Amino acid sequence: NYIIFDLEATCWENRDQSPNEIIEIGAVKINAEGTTVDEFQAFVKPTVHPTLSDFCTRLTSITQQHVDQAPTFDQAIQLFKDWIGVDQLPYLLCSWGFYDRRQLREDSDRFGLDKKWINKHISVKHQHHKLAGTEQPMGMDEALKLEGFPLQGTHHRGIDDARNIARIFQQYFGQWQ
Ligand code: AMP
Ligand code: MG
Repeated sequence: NYIIFDLEATCWENRDQSPNEIIEIGAVKINAEGTTVDEFQAFVKPTVHPTLSDFCTRLTSITQQHVDQAPTFDQAIQLFKDWIGVDQLPYLLCSWGFYDRRQLREDSDRFGLDKKWINKHISVKHQHHKLAGTEQPMGMDEALKLEGFPLQGTHHRGIDDARNIARIFQQYFGQWQ
């Protein structure tokens, strides 16, 4: 299965606080035939900075209430890995750029969790740049425009970003390396 996923994380206007912690995991599962077979969505409660900045809520539309009621990263990531079937099924993690892979590794490090499963990853953004023959890798919103797909849902929400990336992934299905 192809796991098209997108993360949201704590953030601040001047980007001067750290660490950034995952607050949402959104994903779409696409099978070997290119068909969407399932979706995954989980909010995650940050532990170093449990209070979201107003900037972060404005950017992502994720509220304090969403994360207060959510599992912490160690629990949420286990749900995600179980949903993927990391130990049972062949899979490939696909995200728009390398930020999401880095953020997954960072949060895993903080919790002392295994990171090997994260290595099976491609950047849809960088491959799209080659497949579409664009001068530069593009933002997801720009790439959607280029492909003639309206941005569906709320930009900077993990599950909606994942659905939009999945549309681009399906557009070039069979050509991803
Ligand atoms: P995205 O997948 O584009 O929604 O971005 C993922 C995460 O990157 C967000 O949840 C933020 O933590 C961070 N981020 C994205 N855009 C910005 C921005 N303009 N300023 C600060 N952080 C950002
Ligand atoms: Mg996003």
